[in-house]
Parts: sequence; structure tokens; C-alpha cells
Amino acid sequence: MTVVERAFIGGERVQDTGAATFASIDPATEKVIAQVAQTSHEQVDAAVQTAATAQREWARRSVDSRASTLWRWGELILAAGDELAQLDTYDIGRPISDSTNDPAACARATRYWAGMAEQIRGDQLPTAPGHLSYTVREPIGVVAIILPWNGPMLSLCNRVAPALACGNGVVVKPSEWSPMSAGLLAELALDAGLPAGLLNVVLGDGRVGAALVEHRDVGGVSFTGSVATGRTIARAAAGKTITMELGGKSANIVFADADLETAIDAAVWGVFANTGQVCCAGTRLIVERSIADEFVTNVAQRSVLLRVGDPLDPQTQLGPVASKTQYDRVNRYLDDAVSGGARMATGGGRPADAGEVGYYIAPTVVCDAAPGSGIVREEIFGPVLAVQQFEDEAEAVGLANDSRYGLAANIWTENAGRMLRVADQLEVGTVWGNTSRVMDPALPFGGFKDSGVGNAYGDAAVEGLTRLKRVSVRYGTDTPVPRWPR
Ligand code: NAD
Repeated sequence: MTVVERAFIGGERVQDTGAATFASIDPATEKVIAQVAQTSHEQVDAAVQTAATAQREWARRSVDSRASTLWRWGELILAAGDELAQLDTYDIGRPISDSTNDPAACARATRYWAGMAEQIRGDQLPTAPGHLSYTVREPIGVVAIILPWNGPMLSLCNRVAPALACGNGVVVKPSEWSPMSAGLLAELALDAGLPAGLLNVVLGDGRVGAALVEHRDVGGVSFTGSVATGRTIARAAAGKTITMELGGKSANIVFADADLETAIDAAVWGVFANTGQVCCAGTRLIVERSIADEFVTNVAQRSVLLRVGDPLDPQTQLGPVASKTQYDRVNRYLDDAVSGGARMATGGGRPADAGEVGYYIAPTVVCDAAPGSGIVREEIFGPVLAVQQFEDEAEAVGLANDSRYGLAANIWTENAGRMLRVADQLEVGTVWGNTSRVMDPALPFGGFKDSGVGNAYGDAAVEGLTRLKRVSVRYGTDTPVPRWPR
């Protein structure tokens, strides 16, 4: 194996230092696609230092220069779109039909944040006469961005573009399971005109992430990943500015009066796209009892028709799950569900025609699972839908809110009043009404409860990527100054 993926620090790939390497494995073939050099702690330190130096130059640039650089980055991402899409597909088995759309979504993020760079500003605050008080939104300095594996280029662009737009230097660590596209994205940013060293990529597992988060010159941490890791990072990063985008177990509530044909298609896509490895996948189908049997039968029938197979085939809709660890984990949940008395409306293991190679799991719909069971309560992160039934609005809301997570929820009803009432009561950061997973860099997306802290999208993201300075200046000659009387 000749391909070695290396960190990108100070505007160049780190040369071979004889560091430890780990294998990146294609989950469709189980073959090693590259060796990845684990970044050393000294290199993490160098990445932070170079980001701090480059950040000072970046912050001195005009807003127009910063914005046009971000815009150009998007153009270069689009031009390299095919290569980027293939890297992500090899890395995590994301079907190429999905990866192919990701460069455009990345470019949308860089363009949105190019525009937003002009809007990052403070306020002038009216207080006592004779004073001018105003606030300034300053960059934090160096922001550490720690990413999960389920949408490598998308999550990188959606987190890095706002951090840069806010004037920060960045050190990003992709997941050890999806390291392949990050270096190329950083090279393209350099080509677009980013100062060398402003955007660095370090590679490796949680130890590299921990060294980065704990670094004394890192002022902010933007973490996307599991609740367990989020808790560890929150402790390690105490005193820094933190944004956390964590897991979910999102409800998809379907009332009998909904447009059921559309709701069926959306339920299937909403849970099985990216092989179920989406933080806000609609993994809990909460359906009104009067239509439940028919609705679930339809969902199961549609799921069977999904084309599972080689993620590089443009016809494929469902690839393998991203890794052996994930494959074993999902299967454990399915085994436990069966032993607990649950019934599989479809799926429940390896697809019949998948052969023996690759981490394939059939789209699975689980009924009659115990309310407290793992399949109903925990984030599985695979192609698994758990079904629950309700009698009335109150029970639907109760079931939906009965979760430690609060990332997102879907509501399907043609009754406008009910839509708004239910949206009002759901304890989640995002509600989709009569649609599924509409995302855009302009739209806030943050979790309630265990699903996160702060917001990584839209103008709300600026808060987690800047620090707020207040300045009060006395200009009135008669304006008193607080002091002891002479
Ligand atoms: P994970 O928590 O296992 O790992 C995430 C990242 O943290 C990886 O890069 C990992 O190397 C790093 N890491 C691990 N230990 C660390 C430590 N001690 N210090 C610093 N970094 C450390 O999560 P995952 O399995 O990669 O991703 C799946 C999870 O991500 C799911 O829970 C999913 O819901 C969540 N996710 C959330 C969103 C969102 O926007 N809310 C988006 C995508 C994924």
C-alpha cells in the first residue's frame, strides 16, 4: 500500500516522520485504501502555533478579501467535486449518488459564510448620557474543530467556513474513520488564497483530538460527535468557548390526517439515507394507531425496494455502514431487540444478496419493541427504524419527548393548528413540518437536552466562534466619572 495520508500543517503536507500509521478501510470491500499517519503531539502543537500566527494576518485583512477567499474556496471545491466525492465514498461507503451532491452543499456553505463575514458586528448600546458604549465581535483566535465520520467533507465545510468567516485560525481533526478528504479540502483553501497555516488538518484518533482540545492556545472548540465524547471534551475544554453538536434519536410523528403517500417516502428516506448514519435521522416512527399497520407495511415494502450495494455504483441507494465497529454495534442492537420480543417488519441483518464481503445491513423496521429497550431509546446510527403507536396528540408528544436527546423531529399532519401545537411542545432544536431534513447553512441547527450546546449553523453560530468585547467611552464633559469625592 503506497498511499499515505498525512496531516496538513502550515500550508503543506507533513513529511514522513516515521510516525505510527493506521489503516483506512473501504467498508464495501474491507480492503485497506490508505495508511494514515497519526499526528504526533509535537505536530499538534505546531499546527496550533501556525494557526495562531496566520490568524493575525487573516484578521488584518479586509472583510472583502476574507469573503472573496471563502467564495473562491467554494469554486475550487466544486471543480474538485468528483475527486472529493470519491474519497468520501471510499472512506465511509456513502453512496456516490449522495457524495456527488456534497461539493455543491460545501460550496453553498462557503458562499453563505462569505456573505456572513460582512454581517459579523456588534451593537451600539444606549446607556447614560455622555457615554458611547458599543460591542465588538472579535475572533476567538485558534478554534479546534473535531469531526465525526458520517459526512466528512460536508461537516468539515459547515464547521470550518463559519470559523474562518469569524476571523479565526483553525485546526481541524476529521474522524480516524474518515480522514481522506480533509487534506485535499485544506489544499484547496490554500489555493483559494487562505494564508498558509490558517487552516490545518491533524489526523488520528481521540488522543490527537484530546491533545488539540487541551492545548492552551486553543481558545474555542467546535465538536461534532457522540454524547460520551462530548462530555469528555466539555471537561477538558473548560474555560474555552464550546459548541457541541451531538447525537439524536429523532421522532417522526405521523397523524392519520397526513399526506400519507409523501409521509411514507419521506419516512424511508429520512431514516435510511446515508445508511441511517445521520445525527438527525428520523429513527423513531411514532404513528397514529388507526393507520399504523398499513403505514408500517408500506414503509417496509418501500424499504425492501431500496437498492443496496456497491457505493460506487450510481444506482446504489444504500451502501455499507462505515466500519466493522459500526457493523457489529448495529447487529448487537438488532439481536437484543429480537431477544427482547421485538418483531422485524423487514430487514434485521445482512441483506440476502449482499454476499459475504462488506459491512452491509438491510434496511430494518422494528415493531413492538419494549418502550425502554435500546432500539427505542438509544442512538444506533445504522439503517434501523423503531415503530411506536399513539392514540392522540398528547400521547404523540409524550412519546416524542420521552428521550434524553433533543436534536430534531418531524411532524406530518394536514391540520395546521395541530402542526403548530405539536411543534410548540416538542423539546428539540429543529422541527420539520410535512418535510424531512431540510438543511441549509443559513438555518440554525442545534440540539436541546443531551443533543448539544450552542449552534453551528446560521447567524447563531457566530456566538460560539467569536468573543464579545464591550467598550464604554465617556465623551460628555459634564458626565461624572465614578470615583471617590476629593
Ligand atoms: P465520536 O464521539 O466517537 O467521535 C467524534 C470525534 O471525536 C472523532 O474525530 C474522534 O476521534 C474524536 N475524539 C474521540 N475522543 C476524543 C477526545 N477525548 N478528545 C477529543 N476528540 C476525541 O463520534 P462518531 O462516532 O465519530 O460520530 C457519530 C456521532 O456524531 C453520532 O452520535 C452522531 O449523532 C453525531 N453527529 C452529530 C451531528 C450534529 O450536528 N448534531 C452531526 C453528525 C454526527
